[in-house]
Amino acid sequence: MPLLSALIGAALTRTHASAQGLDEAIKISTDSQDGSVRFFVTSHRTIEASVLLRCDLLQNLSPSHPLPYTFLVTRDYNNYEVLRLTQADKQIPTRFGYHFMFVMGSASSRSTVDHVYSLPYPASMHCEIGQSYFGTKSHQAGTADQYAVDITMPVGTPVLAARAGTVIAYRDDSNSGGNSESFKECCNYIHIKHDDGTYAAYVHLKQGGVAVRLGQPVNAGTVIGYSGQTGWATCPHLHFMIYRVGNPPQVQTIPFRMATPKGIVKQLLQGEIY
Ligand SMILES: [Zn+2]
Repeated sequence: MPLLSALIGAALTRTHASAQGLDEAIKISTDSQDGSVRFFVTSHRTIEASVLLRCDLLQNLSPSHPLPYTFLVTRDYNNYEVLRLTQADKQIPTRFGYHFMFVMGSASSRSTVDHVYSLPYPASMHCEIGQSYFGTKSHQAGTADQYAVDITMPVGTPVLAARAGTVIAYRDDSNSGGNSESFKECCNYIHIKHDDGTYAAYVHLKQGGVAVRLGQPVNAGTVIGYSGQTGWATCPHLHFMIYRVGNPPQVQTIPFRMATPKGIVKQLLQGEIY
C-alpha cells in the first residue's frame, strides 16, 4: 500500500506574522488505483493561485510532471487532476509522501506601476495606523509582511477597494480570532489583482464580511467587505498590503503610496491618523 507520509499545505498572507500560514484555500487529495496515484486539487476560495507540490518520498513511481511541480490554479477547481504517479515495476510495492505550499496569485513579467492607492475605508472616518512597514509586532523586516500596514478600525467598518482590480480569492466563514498564533489560519480575507500584476490583500474581515464574489471586477472605492478581528489579531483592524508573486511561488510585499487627507504619502506611519 502507498504510504501517505506528509500532507502540509502552506498558504499566503492572511496572517499577521507570516505569509506562509496554513489555510484550506487549496486542498489536495489523492487516490490510488492499480498502482497509480492521482492528485486532485480543490480550490473553492480562489480562482488564481500558484502551487508548489513536492514528493519527498517516491518509491517505484514515475510522475507525469517533473518534480517539484509548480502549477497554477486558474479557476475554482473541484477535484481537478493535476498530477499522476505511475507504478514503474508492477512487482514492486510503491510508496509516496508529499507536501505543498501555495500563494494567492501568479508571477507576472509586467513591471509594477507606482500607483497612488486610496484609503481602504470611508473618507468620513479617521483611522489610526497601528503598525506600518517593518513593524516590530508582526511586520518585521525580511518577512512577507514587511510592507504591510495595520489600520485600526471598529468591527463592521466598510472596507473599500484601494485600487481597481479583480477579486481572485476570499474567505468569510471564520468567526474566530484573537491574540495568539493559534488563530493564524482563522482570518477572513479578500485578494484583488491589479492590472500591473500586483495584488492587494485585505485581511481580518468579520464573519460574513465579504461583499464581492470570485472574478468580480471592482473599482477603487467599491465597498468590498467589512472589517473584523478574525485570525491572529490583538484588536479589530484591517491588515492591508500590496504584493507580487515570486517564482518559485512566494509573497513579495512592496511599499505603496497612498492618497490621504494629509496628502499623498510614501508610507502610512505608525501612530498617525489619516
Ligand atoms: Zn498586519
